[in-house]
Amino acid sequence: MIVLLKGNTTPEELRQFTDDMCQLGLDPHVTVGEAHTIVGLVGDTSRLDIGQLEAMDIVEAVRRVQEPFKKANRRFQEEDTIIVLDNGTKIGGGNFQVIAGPCSIESEEQIIHVAQEVKKAGATLLRGGAFKPRTSPYAFQGLHTKGIRLLVQAKQATGLPIVTEIMDKSHLPLFDEVDVIQVGARNMQNFELLKHLGRTNKPILLKRGLANTLEELLMSAEYIMANGNERVLLCERGIRTFETYTRNTLDLSAIPVLRRLSHLPIIVDPSHATGDAGLVKPMALAATAAGADGLMIEVHNDPPHALCDGAQSLTPQGFQELVGMVQAIRPYSDCHAASEARL
Ligand code: PEP
Ligand code: MN
Repeated sequence: MIVLLKGNTTPEELRQFTDDMCQLGLDPHVTVGEAHTIVGLVGDTSRLDIGQLEAMDIVEAVRRVQEPFKKANRRFQEEDTIIVLDNGTKIGGGNFQVIAGPCSIESEEQIIHVAQEVKKAGATLLRGGAFKPRTSPYAFQGLHTKGIRLLVQAKQATGLPIVTEIMDKSHLPLFDEVDVIQVGARNMQNFELLKHLGRTNKPILLKRGLANTLEELLMSAEYIMANGNERVLLCERGIRTFETYTRNTLDLSAIPVLRRLSHLPIIVDPSHATGDAGLVKPMALAATAAGADGLMIEVHNDPPHALCDGAQSLTPQGFQELVGMVQAIRPYSDCHAASEARL
């Protein structure tokens, strides 16, 4: 439920109102805008008397929110969420970032080299997997603790904030120096993991599951937010369809739809969406044009010999060309139009 307060509501009246709502067992989510203050009420509002609320002096209007996601909902917070990393990098609300790096961290030389190359080409965050969710138990599973250590070394060498995937909550102590924790597609509905991450203060890059709807993605974001961590990035990485020429099907319409439904930043991963290095650039450009807040691109120094996802990995040279074109079309991107078209 959304309660729109009148423009002249005093801070004292607002505090009294939110205290009263807490007393009723609700969790008030306050957004102070220029003209109005919006209070989103999360919890069981079925016993609230709307007429009684509307009769209050400070209340302008009351609306029920039909969607099951609340904190992630654009109706609860009109302004785009901007996620600020420790080094000051901002994501969302017009701040566009490019995350790049190998699928897996393979060695010190590899990750440091790729980190330096992608930084030179314009990447603003470095990715690399240390815990890899592989379909086959016989495939390379990542360097685990050592991988995270090497990624931190690459962060120190380049100054790039780092993004890496978590697969089990018991690994969380290893992620102290990680700037953004990734939840992979296969764990999008690992609710115990999501609840645990909700109790951390790290930004979470939440990837859409292989066969999940956008509402399910937003409900997973809600799990993290409901547990206290509101720094969530949504990531479209392709969904499984009947098409076989691409690894997945990139759902480009997810960008304006998520923009309309939610205030959270939207990242697009064209590497996992296509599975084919030759398709990454056109899809990255399309995602940028459609209003994504950032891209996640796999880059490898020697794709044919990569231990994971070589076929979809760009060379540093290919990545540099991609960034050049993305930067050229960014000013024409539709993020503002899409956000104006919301609701
Ligand atoms: C990855 O980013 O390397 C990855 C495994 O992605 P996804 O979970 O989208 O398959
Ligand atoms: Mn990969």
